Amino acid sequence: MNLKELKNIIKNEGETLINKTQIAETEKEKILLRAVKLNEEVGELCEEILKKFGNQRKEKKFDDKNLRGEFADVIITLMLLADKMDIDVEEALEEKVNYIVKKKLKE
Ligand SMILES: [Mg+2]
Repeated sequence: MNLKELKNIIKNEGETLINKTQIAETEKEKILLRAVKLNEEVGELCEEILKKFGNQRKEKKFDDKNLRGEFADVIITLMLLADKMDIDVEEALEEKVNYIVKKKLKE
């Protein structure tokens, strides 16, 4: 799957990917809730990284599948948030990468 395909899935099926326990009435509430959810997913990713390096309690075992899953959760949640805020992630990435590359060339 490439970024364009993922973007289309998010655009067409975004609402079904969202946890139905996330109750928000206004657009602002939905955006804020998704931003908080993104932070939760980043936390889960960090927990998996800590497990990988043995920095969690021993009963919390590292599993490579869980680590991959948390990377995916962060990306999907980020794209749901971007879609809600009418941000085209592909364009944003292209702009930023071009900026970074140009900046690097000047150094
Ligand atoms: Mg997760």
